[in-house]
Amino acid sequence: MVQAPIEKKSANNSSVNTDELKQKIEEIYNLPFPELIFQAQTIHREFHNSSEVQFCTLSNIKSGACPEDCGYCSQSAHHKTESEVYGLMNIEEVLKEAKEAKDNGATRFCMGAAWRSAPDNYQFENVLEMVRSVKEMGMEPCVTLGMLKKDQAEKLKEAGLHSYNHNIDTSPEHYENVISTRTFDDRLETIQYVQEAGINVCCGGILGLGETKADRISFIASLAKLDPQPGSVPINVLAPIPGTPLYEQGVTNPVDNFEVIRTIATSRIMMPKAQVRLSAGRLEMSDEMQSLCFIAGANSIFSGDKLLTTDNPESSKDFQLIEKLGMTRRVKAEI
Ligand code: SF4
Repeated sequence: MVQAPIEKKSANNSSVNTDELKQKIEEIYNLPFPELIFQAQTIHREFHNSSEVQFCTLSNIKSGACPEDCGYCSQSAHHKTESEVYGLMNIEEVLKEAKEAKDNGATRFCMGAAWRSAPDNYQFENVLEMVRSVKEMGMEPCVTLGMLKKDQAEKLKEAGLHSYNHNIDTSPEHYENVISTRTFDDRLETIQYVQEAGINVCCGGILGLGETKADRISFIASLAKLDPQPGSVPINVLAPIPGTPLYEQGVTNPVDNFEVIRTIATSRIMMPKAQVRLSAGRLEMSDEMQSLCFIAGANSIFSGDKLLTTDNPESSKDFQLIEKLGMTRRVKAEI
């Protein structure tokens, strides 16, 4: 008997015509700036409290010696950087950081491990325990562990994981210029397992990787056609780290602030329900620039002195900014 071919599922919405989607996004991205901001703010108000910002804290639970070669990352074993190298932190240490994050106003605690793929051993069991405990503390637990297998995604869901972060980083077209040790499709496979397990997908990227405007448009299209769309979209700006292949690019050709704002506004319009997170790169941004990002639809920041290996504004500065703007910090986690 001839068996019907197994239908290969995809992380993407197959009914979406990518060229038409890109064209639509390009039109939005290129709108006159006031019109773009108006449209983004209108959608933002429809789906969110436009005065509220969520604070998240990111903990680097396993640092460095990563076999991947992401051109922006100080934790890659392929690059000579001064980044710290250590194995998986013990559960108590991580929970101590989680408590500090909560005391500093975070409602979401993200744990990042520099692995190519999540291991299948006691370390994964320890991560599951961290997830359970962070949830018990009343925060949204999020992890980023590299590529996952289907059963690992299911175990993370059972442990109470709120979100799994797996960034696509840039457009499919520019991807191989940034990373050579994995493909864009590898990313989509893990995203699909996360979607199927019923975990929220946290997926975004980095601006300033030498991408063109067309790449930024294609990047937003790749996010917007995920099905379901990501609940969380971190938008990072490259923080150039000496020793990484993209250091020179970041120093000599940083992304223009208005391109960052346009990317945020267009992402807000295309993914109305998502938390759009203004992530790495805030240390170099003025208060006015960050405010424009909020107006364009960003509604979350990462708080805490460190964002994995790069510096981040002190929490007290963030509190001051939010107060100066008459905005509020979200106090309720979605758990
Ligand atoms: S970004 Fe992540 S996967 Fe890439 S080298 Fe750094 S730690 Fe490894």
